[in-house]
Amino acid sequence: MSSTQDLDYPQILFQYNNGFLVSKIMFTACELGVFDLLLESEGPLSSDAIAERLGTSASGMERLLDACVGLKLLGVEMKSEGAFYRNTELSNLYLTKSSPKSQYHNLMYYSKTIYLCWHYLTDAVRDGKNQYERAFGISSEDIFGALYRSEEEMIKFMYGLNAIWSICGRDVIAAFDLSAFTVIYDLGGCAGGLAQECISLYPNSTVTIYDLPKVVQVAKERFVPPEERRITFHEGDFFKDPIPEADLYILARTLHDWAEDKCMQLLAKIHKACKPGGGVLLVETLLNEDKTGPSEAQLFSLVMLVQTEGKERTPSEYSKLLTAAGFREIQVKKTGKLYDAILGRK
Ligand code: SAM
Repeated sequence: MSSTQDLDYPQILFQYNNGFLVSKIMFTACELGVFDLLLESEGPLSSDAIAERLGTSASGMERLLDACVGLKLLGVEMKSEGAFYRNTELSNLYLTKSSPKSQYHNLMYYSKTIYLCWHYLTDAVRDGKNQYERAFGISSEDIFGALYRSEEEMIKFMYGLNAIWSICGRDVIAAFDLSAFTVIYDLGGCAGGLAQECISLYPNSTVTIYDLPKVVQVAKERFVPPEERRITFHEGDFFKDPIPEADLYILARTLHDWAEDKCMQLLAKIHKACKPGGGVLLVETLLNEDKTGPSEAQLFSLVMLVQTEGKERTPSEYSKLLTAAGFREIQVKKTGKLYDAILGRK
């Protein structure tokens, strides 16, 4: 009794079983600088040459490089002297540090932080809450206090989150015509990747990054060039401090950090501050209404369980929150990439 299904099931099973091995291979090659070295080198390099330049064992490096070939992160050429490795287009574009679309920092945040938290996924599912106490021995009372448990961890988070906007930022900012909104606040704007996309697409806009004081300090020092006059900053706590009046408020990957009561509190405050005719743009990864996926959004929802107080939501869940806060004319745009956009008007 052999059917196609009998043949496919084990393959899917092994693929899922090995999922974290695949991630770790990619993270390790990034961390060791394999892709950066191959980008800079004149031509393909042997495993021994790569190991020597990166200060690793020859035997470990050869296996890592071969695994990267199997995963299509590297190409290989067999010559009489042996195997010579080179980057693929994918690794040149996304895995080298110097590429404008580099995901290096995102991968390092996954490898150094998210990976450690996911050790406690079973506990998170049992408890229904994040796992800072088990993973790091720290209180989870203040989520961003825990996420930013050191300056180094906060900077890693900022670089990690910012990286994705070089791939998805333009799509979410262009999902709706935002040209009528000139005074824009990006609440929880972090390192400003989305603010940069916004001012580049809408020449009449100015964007204020509103975030916690220590985040704003680092955004100014490391991410937003001082000559960029159309991006300004506002230090504050959006739950406790006033939110200034604006035409548009962006909330990107921000509501997903919080439970319903906090989302409601924040949206109601934004509605009050918003100019009549203004709006709020939510940028989030949206779950299908019928629970069929997309699997990335379902995975992210578990990331939220392990690390925050929030979750990913469906368009109707976000619409309900927006409507309850007083917003109307709610429109949902799926971009076909990781992040989607929802616009509500006052
Ligand atoms: N919008 C950014 C993006 O998508 O790349 C960052 C998203 S991050 C998940 C949430 C942001 O909200 C962080 O920058 C964090 O510092 C900020 N944040 C959290 N609590 C805040 C508060 N009470 N007041 C202001 N900003 C806050």
